[in-house]
Amino acid sequence: MAYSSIYAPARMDPALPPLRVNLYSDTQTKPSPGMKEAMMAAEVGDEQHGDDPAILELCDRMAALLDKEAAVFLPSGTMCNQIAILTHCRAGDEILAHELSHIIANEGGGPGALTGAVVLGLRGERGQFDPETVRAALREPRRNAPPQTLLEVEQTANSGGGSVWPLDKLNAIMDTAHEAGMRTHMDGARLMNAVVAAGVPAHEMVAKCDSVWLDFTKGLGAPLGAVLCGSARFIDEAWQWKQRLGGSLRQGGICAAACTYALDHNVDRLAEDHANARFLAQGLAQVAGLMVEEPETNLVFFDTRGAGVTADELADRIRWDGVQVSTVGKYRVRACTHLDVDRAGVELAIQVIREKISR
Ligand SMILES: *Cc1c(COP(=O)(O)O)cnc(C)c1O
Repeated sequence: MAYSSIYAPARMDPALPPLRVNLYSDTQTKPSPGMKEAMMAAEVGDEQHGDDPAILELCDRMAALLDKEAAVFLPSGTMCNQIAILTHCRAGDEILAHELSHIIANEGGGPGALTGAVVLGLRGERGQFDPETVRAALREPRRNAPPQTLLEVEQTANSGGGSVWPLDKLNAIMDTAHEAGMRTHMDGARLMNAVVAAGVPAHEMVAKCDSVWLDFTKGLGAPLGAVLCGSARFIDEAWQWKQRLGGSLRQGGICAAACTYALDHNVDRLAEDHANARFLAQGLAQVAGLMVEEPETNLVFFDTRGAGVTADELADRIRWDGVQVSTVGKYRVRACTHLDVDRAGVELAIQVIREKISR
């Protein structure tokens, strides 16, 4: 069986012009000169022996930032989710998560393949759900029912339009899960976007999460790396899974130094990405036929149906003018602002999309 690339074929044509504005994903940010300098200067050791100073520093910073006992550095956010699930759950367990969540749609069936757990998809607007929905999904403890052991949420909710869970709603669903004897896990791929947008300190936002991670390869601009946080006991066990899966690193501090640099330089500026996303959404809303969802953070989703083009058709057309977006449905486009896109780039993208729609 052939697996399709995430890029439509026309966007891989060797004759394509170079990119001028890359709104495809905040994962495509490149390390800045300052970040590369920090990487070159990193003091490194052997992480598997627990003595890579740059990784230890990053883990200490993250544990303090999120007010958790301990932290572990991992190559990717996907590995954070999967190791958290391996640590919290056993085969046969049921996880509750939004039906559009990354662990259901974008991790290769990891919970089933690795843990043997099933994920029950919950419904709700903008990638979120309420305590009543969690309560309605709870099962009587019976011999023939799967044990429900974990509730998972995304902050921000990616497929929910980059929406920010309000703190009271987040706390309410986490309380509901804890009352039902479940543990709670936050996929914080874009946690700092939520923190900056809501103005709520990170440790308050994750206070009721038994485990939580932050990705450094999204809008924070590092080449790789994510940090998973939780209790000391949870992290001990997570470390064993990291080892089993071959995720233990040697001089990984070179990459951890980029993440620490990102914490120092690239968090507050996420507000710029959010302002650019709002500007982009306002510009696109003026284009006849486009239905634009109001962005809360750095992700802008819009529907092309009314303009008489599919999402892929539009993405292909604008790519020939050096503008790249991603498509997440027949008519749904995602445009993502990040530190390698400035206001002029957003203006250019609006102009190109307008031209290609009205031609
Ligand atoms: C990107 C993303 C992940 C996976 O992170 P990687 O570092 O790419 O493995 C998980 N969850 C959400 C919501 C994401 O956006």
